[in-house]
This record gives sequence, structure tokens and C-alpha cells, in this order.
Amino acid sequence: VIEMGTPDRSVVTTCAYCGVGCSFKAEMQGDKLVRMVPYKHGKANRGHSCVKGRFAYGYANHKERILNPMIRETINDPWREVSWDEALTFASTRLRGLQEKYGRRSIGVITSSRCTNEETFLVQKLARAVFMNNNTDTCARVCHSPTGYGLGQTFGTSAGTQDFDSVEDTDVMIVIGANPTDAHPVFASRMKKRLRQGAKLIVIDPRRIDLVKSAHIKASHHLPLRPGTNVAVVSALAHVIVTEGLANESFIKERCDWDEFREYAEFISDPRHSPEATESLTGVPAEELRKAARLFATGGNGAIYYGLGVTEHSQGSTTVIGIANLAMMTGNIGRRGVGVNPLRGQNNVQGSCDMGSFPHELPGYRHVKNGDVREIFEKMWGVEIDPEPGLRITNMLDAAVDGSFKGLYCQGEDILQSDPDTHHVAAGLAAMECVIVHDLFLNETANYAHVFLPGSSFLEKDGTFTNAERRINMVRKVMAPKNGYADWEVTQMLANAMGAEWTYTHPSQIMAEVAATTPSFANVTYEKIETMGSVQWPCNDNAPDGTPLMHVDGFVRGKGRFIVTEYVATDEKSGPRFPLLLTTGRILSQYNVGAQTRRTANVVWHDQDVLEIHPHDAEVRGVKDGDFVRLASRSGDTTLKAKITDRVSPGVVYTTFHHPNTQANVITTDFSDWATNCPEYKVTAVQVALSNGP
Ligand code: SF4
Repeated sequence: VIEMGTPDRSVVTTCAYCGVGCSFKAEMQGDKLVRMVPYKHGKANRGHSCVKGRFAYGYANHKERILNPMIRETINDPWREVSWDEALTFASTRLRGLQEKYGRRSIGVITSSRCTNEETFLVQKLARAVFMNNNTDTCARVCHSPTGYGLGQTFGTSAGTQDFDSVEDTDVMIVIGANPTDAHPVFASRMKKRLRQGAKLIVIDPRRIDLVKSAHIKASHHLPLRPGTNVAVVSALAHVIVTEGLANESFIKERCDWDEFREYAEFISDPRHSPEATESLTGVPAEELRKAARLFATGGNGAIYYGLGVTEHSQGSTTVIGIANLAMMTGNIGRRGVGVNPLRGQNNVQGSCDMGSFPHELPGYRHVKNGDVREIFEKMWGVEIDPEPGLRITNMLDAAVDGSFKGLYCQGEDILQSDPDTHHVAAGLAAMECVIVHDLFLNETANYAHVFLPGSSFLEKDGTFTNAERRINMVRKVMAPKNGYADWEVTQMLANAMGAEWTYTHPSQIMAEVAATTPSFANVTYEKIETMGSVQWPCNDNAPDGTPLMHVDGFVRGKGRFIVTEYVATDEKSGPRFPLLLTTGRILSQYNVGAQTRRTANVVWHDQDVLEIHPHDAEVRGVKDGDFVRLASRSGDTTLKAKITDRVSPGVVYTTFHHPNTQANVITTDFSDWATNCPEYKVTAVQVALSNGP
């Protein structure tokens, strides 16, 4: 059902779903949103959209939205609606009490990639300037934190190198661990257009995603690797390029550290990295790997696009580094058509990382141990910043179970449903004495909350989102907040209830504070964004109108850095009891845990997640299409319907994680990336058996 009516005004704003960052005209009739029309001047989407941004906005008016604050003494008590004053007094008194009893580092915050840059900035400021610790983390922890680490180490900055327009000059694309057709549909259309014009495509994915073969598109190579072997596959590609003399030595000599490359070349030339030596491990035919490597190295402008199938592994950071190595060794950095392009899942993953949400980094990716950087913020905020990095989400939960972490302010994030090893998350939340959930809905995490603060949707506030190409887009208030306050105002009220004296009256003042403290945002102002339509950071005196392409004349860190990428097998092993490997992903019409898309009448509604299983694996288990199956791992089990398909290889099963009744994360393990703790969602050893149903 699409709401219809005759609009009498419109407001241009930015989609709150994926990291493409499409611009829309929200057409209004009085206070009623009549429709969302893709904005033809939107630089990320040029008038295009997908089904989510176009139609899935009904959640903002959903009857399950909570509009009044609520508190309860214990999580076993019923919720009690109270005034904002009473809720904030209750929350602030509890949090301060916990700090007095257990120490200032006993509480923390989780920021959200769904919220604006300005809101995220304030939440990490709440931790650092009011809680007086660095216990701040973001849901980017569980998706693209390895991107931050890997690209920071190799290139010197934690962001994609290109703008979306760059794809128009690409000759060879590698798409690894990403399914753009479902997860980034508008950019996928631009990729497809380029492919139809003749660009070549190499897909590295355990599953035969749509891009492998669709209308007028056929990938030159699909490398259906075994889940968990990304590093081995990327290293095999690099081995071929280096040992066959296909590396771009003039680029490497000019732009990268040559000595480090020589060391790396010696490492990667070892026969143990060859396609032939790794074929049985990865499941990818050696000859296909060799051909793919030659195509990428010799086919012209080569661009690499990747997603969570790269990052959500115990070696996620290593694979990101390996991808950066591939781009540098082939000279595919610093001009249109090339580059390393992380496809960001959520609307503001890039922004939440930029704004200093990580416990070791102040805004602009500067380490909290750096006294000069701390001093900038200390002067601005009038406080002394804790020099010790704080706790990551997983560490917060571990510390809660151990009894040393007691209080959490969680904005716009349902960690119980979205984080791995649900039982452990629940145990951590249950052990805390003050959990504050700030959200649109009573989500699963709120089952363990003592305070619920109603959140505002993207339609109800001003601010900015930063998309996957570092483009800062304006979010404009379309209607008044239904709960009375935008999220940044609620964070400010909580800070002030705890003794701060914040006086922001508009998010533009918060952005001015970001610009004053963060060199890559130095020239970012609301006026500039309004004038230009959007602006890509870095935006400062060196690049007054922003930076579409990074590392053009030199890497941010100076010389590009090659780092060896030793493959280390995940601790998650298949075996006789759990013989299959489960990997996960999304479908076009749903979004993450479905909090928004499940609450809109305008989008195709799939009533359950399904398990994709290869015909051979189904047959030996007596499973027919549509049968209920029990999916079990060492962590837990769930029941869902089987879909028999050869999109997945024998030995691999696949599901989505959109529905709380499936609880896919009951299945996933607590293994995580060695550098960042990004959970290993993409590899879980499982067994599948016929079931009578849930
Ligand atoms: Fe929104 Fe992404 Fe769809 Fe664009 S492609 S409309 S940003 S969900």
C-alpha cells in the first residue's frame, strides 16, 4: 500500500538505509509524508533509488513506536511511563552511582551508524567528556572495523579511495565478499551499466550472487571459495601477479616503500601461496585463479569492491590488507576507474567511524594516546581526556559478565539481535545495573534495559550522513520529532543531567566543533554542503571543495605500505558433527535486523529467513524444498525453511538475519577478527536436519 495524496511542499533529504546515500525529495501534504521521490540532483544516486529508500519509510509512523520515556527498577519489573525529567534524573543518578561504586570506567556508550554524524559525535563526547573514559564503540565494530584498520595501516586513512563516478572508467572489477545487487542496489546498477559496456568482472564469493550471471552480464570468473579462506585466495592472486612479473614496479617504486615491497614479494612468491598449493584449501580451481590474476593485472583500470564477506572473519583485517596490496602492486590507486572501495552497509558507517566512535580513536582517526590530539579536544571541551583506550563492545560485555562493567547507554543499536553469540550478549546485558536504550522501538536489547529513551527517525531531524564514498550528505527535518526531541537533543539532555553544560541549539554547531577539531573536516560547514549539494572529505585548505579521489599524488601516510598476509585458519572448524559451513547475507527488500523494513507496509515482506542448501546436501538429509530444518551449531540452534539451490556450493549453506524469530545469531560463534574484534559472522560450522517446524 502506497500512501497517496497531493503534496504541497517537499524537503530534500538522505536515505537512512545503506551506505550508497541516495538523496530523496520527501513530498509532504501538511504533516503527512505522501511519498519519497528520488532526487535527480543527488550526487550519489542521480535520480535513482531502490525499493527500501523509495517505499520503506512507514516505520516512522508505526504504532509500535515508543514516544514517551520509560523506566523500571529491575528488568523483571513492568515499564513505567515517566516525564523526560524523571527518566533523565533516574538514568543520570544510576550512572553516577555506578561510577562512584565501581569506578569511572565502569560505564560506557554504543553509538549508531544509523544516526547522524552530529549525534554520533555527541555520544562519543558523552563518554569522553562526561563519563570521563573512552568506553565508546559503534556498530561499525561488527561490520567494517577491519576496513578502518587495514586501510589505515596500508594507505594511511580509513576510507574508500574512490567516488562512485569512478566506476565509469573501470576496465576490470573485482567484487569480493559483497552482493551489491541486494545490499547496495543503486550503485550496483552503475556497476552493471559499466559491465554491459564491456568491463570485465571477477566475483570472489562462496555463493553465486546475482552479478555472476544476470541480464547481459556474465562474470569472466567466479571464484566460489570455501568460507574462511579469503586470505589464501587474495594471496594466490598476488602470488601469480608477482611471480609472473605482472607487478607494476614503476608505480611501486614511485609511490610505495620499495624495501617493504621486496620483503613482501619474497613472502608472497613462496610456492605455498600458489593457486595450485591452495586449491584444496580454498576450493577454487588453480587455473581460474591464475586467469583471474592475469586479467586484473593486465586488463587496464582495476577496481576492487568489497563488503562484509571480507571483513566479518577472524582474518578480516588481513584480507583488507591483502586487497590493498593487490591494488598497490598493480598500480591501481590514485586515478579514476581504480581503487579500493569498501561498500558500507549502513547509511552512516563511514561517519560513525570518522566521528571518533572507536574506543582508541578521537574524531579523525587519531589515537587517544596522542597527547597533542587530546589537547585539542581538552581545550575545546574543558576536560582532561583519559589517555587509555576504552572497551570495545565485546570487551564491555565480557567485563559485564566478569562484574566490572555496569552501565551502558546504547543509541540506535539492537546489540542483542545483531551481535554474535546471543546468549553471551544477553548474559552481559543482564549483569549490568543500568542499561539505557535510546531507540524508536522496544527492541530485543530493551528486554534488558532499565531506561528507555524514545528515539527520532531520520525524517524528524537535521544533520548529516557520510556515505561509502566519503560524501557528506544533508539530512533535513521533514516533520517534527514525534517524541519531542531529535536524538542529539536527548544525548545533550542526558549529558547535562550528569552535570555537563552543553548548549547546542542546532546540529550545525556540532559540525562546527567537528571542523574546529578535525583536520579532514576543517572546511566542512552546513553552508558549503548546502551550496555544493554534498562534499567529500578530506575538505580543508588543501582541498577546499572536498576530495573525490584519494591518494592521487601520494598516500595519506606518505609511501604506501605492503604488509605480509599470512593465512591463519579460523578456529571454527567443520567436522563430522557439524559438517557444513554457514555464511550469511541480506536480501534486497529487508535491512539488517529488520527493525525498519519489517515495520513498513510498503515493501515486499518475506515472513521468514530461509536456509539455502545445495541439492546434494539436501538430498542426503532427505530435505525437500520448503521443508523445515533445524540448523544447529556449537553455539545454539534455530529452525527455518530450506530453499534448495545450486547458488551455494556443496558443503556451504546460507541464510539471512533479518527476522527475530530466526535469531540467526544464536548460531554464530564468538570468534572475531584478530585486530579489531569484528565478529566472524561469515563462517559457522553447522549441522542441518529435517524438523517438524519451530
Ligand atoms: Fe537507500 Fe541504499 Fe536503496 Fe539508495 S540504494 S535508496 S541509499 S537503501
